[in-house]
Amino acid sequence: MKNVTELFGSMVFNDHVMRERLPKSTYKALKNCINQGISLDLSIANIVANAMKDWAIEKGATHFTHWFQPMTGITAEKHDSFISPTSDGSIIMEFSGKELIKGEPDASSFPSGGLRATFEARGYTAWDPTSFAFIKDNTLCIPTAFCSYGGEALDKKTPLLRSMSALNKEAIRILKLFGHEDVEKVLTTVGPEQEYFLVDKDLFAKRKDLIFCGRTLFGAKPPKGQELDDHYFGTIKPKVAAFMEELDEELWKLGILAKTEHNEVAPGQHELAPIFTTSNISTDHNQLTMEIMQKVAKRHGLVCLLHEKPFAGVNGSGKHNNWSLSTDTGINLLEPGKSPEENAQFLLFLAAVVKAVDEYQDLLRLSVASAGNDHRLGANEAPPAIVSMFLGEELTAILESIEKDSSYDKKAAAYMEIGVDVLPRFKKDTTDRNRTSPFAFTGNKFEFRMLGSALSISGPNVILNTIVAEALSCFADQLESCDNFQATIQSIIKSTLQEHKRIIFNGNNYADAWVKEAEHRGLLNLKSTPDALPYFIAPKNIELFTKHKIFTESEIYSRYEILLEGYSKVLHIESLTMIEMVKKDIIPAVVSYVDHLTQAALHKRALLSTTCSCDLEEGLINELSSLSGCLYKKLNALDECLISSTFANEQEKANYYKDSVFPAMQELRAVADEIETLVGRTYWPYPTYGDLLFSL
Ligand code: ADP
Ligand code: MG
Repeated sequence: MKNVTELFGSMVFNDHVMRERLPKSTYKALKNCINQGISLDLSIANIVANAMKDWAIEKGATHFTHWFQPMTGITAEKHDSFISPTSDGSIIMEFSGKELIKGEPDASSFPSGGLRATFEARGYTAWDPTSFAFIKDNTLCIPTAFCSYGGEALDKKTPLLRSMSALNKEAIRILKLFGHEDVEKVLTTVGPEQEYFLVDKDLFAKRKDLIFCGRTLFGAKPPKGQELDDHYFGTIKPKVAAFMEELDEELWKLGILAKTEHNEVAPGQHELAPIFTTSNISTDHNQLTMEIMQKVAKRHGLVCLLHEKPFAGVNGSGKHNNWSLSTDTGINLLEPGKSPEENAQFLLFLAAVVKAVDEYQDLLRLSVASAGNDHRLGANEAPPAIVSMFLGEELTAILESIEKDSSYDKKAAAYMEIGVDVLPRFKKDTTDRNRTSPFAFTGNKFEFRMLGSALSISGPNVILNTIVAEALSCFADQLESCDNFQATIQSIIKSTLQEHKRIIFNGNNYADAWVKEAEHRGLLNLKSTPDALPYFIAPKNIELFTKHKIFTESEIYSRYEILLEGYSKVLHIESLTMIEMVKKDIIPAVVSYVDHLTQAALHKRALLSTTCSCDLEEGLINELSSLSGCLYKKLNALDECLISSTFANEQEKANYYKDSVFPAMQELRAVADEIETLVGRTYWPYPTYGDLLFSL
């Protein structure tokens, strides 16, 4: 491997390169635009574009693209070469400032939820200079936002930038009150831990379900799954290690801070964790990480599965969104302080998160809703669909003591120091690492654990930033108009606790008792995507988004439609895939195996006598015949499910897929999986779970 420090960021037009290659005044002007969030002057853009092009060509690039994140949840790019003809029949390589700052892709085939009529097919992309340009596959990629011609956001970057700016605004209001005049900007930071599976490429190619749906739709349980817990943090197999090494290299070239790689719980499952950075860059980097994981895997004869539940019966894959707030002066606002004054500020930010998570638990839940993640939330390895927060015993005790006006518990007195204004000082030590909580405080950040592995982290972070901005805004309103600052803080924390402590739960989130307890506390339990999505358009949420200028009302409705439609489409494709697999592969397999058994029995009888025992053949023939009959019935039932019904709207349709189609899929699968256990290996058309999970 090359020198890592040299390799790192070598394909990124980063600050270092900008300073080196841009005239001083241009560099300054560009930095100013980035820091102030103002748009770039065309004359400056021309100079930047030219420097970028020269740099890119030196690195072997021939093309450029506006790289954007439409509502499909993956990234999109359309490549243009730098070539421009000259009058003498040759070409020169050109890239203008206009091409850098704005693009106009024909956008008619991206989901827009009715925002963009097809006759108004043009959308436009606009450079987001807060995220660096980079080179991928000989193409200079310019990270851009994607909007309709009317200016409505059609992507996942625009609302994220808007939410970061909303949070910045409200957090600054609070910090000013604490006398932090030096802070100019508050940024949200994110470190997403990414889980994934690796399977052998040849085995993958034999399974239509993996090819079309990214998950297995059939598959009997193998004799061994994850019972022995022998995979978690286990030694990494050579093939996987080679993959990880190349993956790290590729990510480092793009300036992605890939840090930790290890085996996960399920056989064939792994994780990559980067070092955190700002939400915006982290989101871009996570999209790139997912893309590059898949590419690098192919070069190693592997396929990387990012689906939330590729295999039933073993753990699925998620993403842990580690989130915090930090100032441009380098202070983490969720870091408990050293003095009572610092802790007053920390506790206020903490209280804002408590209030936000409780008041907008619906939005947090729906921000992670997808057909794939429905298999996971509530299943054993993942947090349940109920949103709650873990703060740890100590922090909870401190908050409770403020709530009850009592002095802080004696047992922990050693840790704290009661200040003049009663706000205690304490050690940052959350030794109890609750792994079951969907939203856990982990010392100096929150870890939102409900995200699915395939999901763009943009959505959940838009919600997190916006709801915390709203809570901070309420607090700032009170504090700006109060007479006694300290007393008001005290009373804000106290009343927040009184109103919202139901959201705090430090126990085992996987226990059945919690489901009952949560219901008793009045917490939402939105089990599926169609259950969760209607909350998007609830009046209180529309008010929230429009107040902070995250989404317009029509943008909210369009997103709601896109998400519902996406859900139904996924289930539709999965159903069609199942039907095809049963008709084309599973039925022929059973029929020939039964025929084989029948022939065997007939031959035996012909050779020996009619009294010769054919118990085995007859037994299996009987069992398989009755299961085949059942399979046929379930197949037709699913088929019929798909033909019937017209729907008044997307919500009704999604509900139908959840309540009628999904159960029919499950029933068909159950029969097929039972048949799989009886049919001879050479007859079965697909690699089994055992083959797939233990292939490397
Ligand atoms: P854990 O052991 O709790 O998983 P780590 O220190 O390994 O904690 O961090 C997990 C992830 O959290 C990493 O991606 C890390 O970069 C990220 N992280 C750490 N601090 C912050 C922060 N202040 N803001 C956002 N993410 C953070
Ligand atoms: Mg973690």
